[in-house]
Amino acid sequence: MMILLIRRKWILGSVVLLLTAATVLSFYAKPPAVAALSYIELSKSEMIILDAGHGGSDGGAVSEDGTPESGINLAIAQRLQDFFVLMGRETMLTRTSAASLADPDSATLRQEKVSDTKNRVALINSVSGGSLISIHQNTLPGHPSVHGAQVFYGKTATSDVRARFVQESLNSAVNQGNEKASKPIGSDIYIMAHVSCPAILVECGFLSNSSETKLLLDPVYQTKLAVAIGCGYLQYG
Ligand SMILES: [Zn+2]
Repeated sequence: MMILLIRRKWILGSVVLLLTAATVLSFYAKPPAVAALSYIELSKSEMIILDAGHGGSDGGAVSEDGTPESGINLAIAQRLQDFFVLMGRETMLTRTSAASLADPDSATLRQEKVSDTKNRVALINSVSGGSLISIHQNTLPGHPSVHGAQVFYGKTATSDVRARFVQESLNSAVNQGNEKASKPIGSDIYIMAHVSCPAILVECGFLSNSSETKLLLDPVYQTKLAVAIGCGYLQYG
């Protein structure tokens, strides 16, 4: 029975793998080596925590036309969850709606941000065997031509390796001619500095760039980003 179950799981896994590989290959102008996808193990028990940055009154970075990053973050995080579920991985979202995780009695925006951040850290650290992917959008006002996706990593073990795989995948998928390197994140980013699990933060694009803002609002591009992030992440194992 056990062998049968494992065999069925393996067959299901193979079918999912082929379907996903076909989807991924259709996204990439320069396809990644298919062999790389063999790193995927459906039995992996790690809980992948997907964190859509900001929420509630805190919209995060805002584009020139007033679009906040919080909704884009959630749309990409939800697509990333769909991808990982398809790949047979355990996932959870830190938020599933536009609301923040702040205590309801937070009176000011400052109090809401502090409460939200602390509650996120507590939630993430309450998960045993977790790993964190935090989704954000960047902005560099005064430099509207700067664009592209960049991955940052925390100081916890294996965060740097995971970030490198995801960055390589994003470079192939959306940063062609504009390749970036993953970087350690500054200690002033509270969540990344206080979580105890492996943690990366993906800045998917720049809201200070109007063309990229249009792309970031496009559901197809959001899916492309999610698949690129997911494929890169699964190459870690
Ligand atoms: Zn942000």
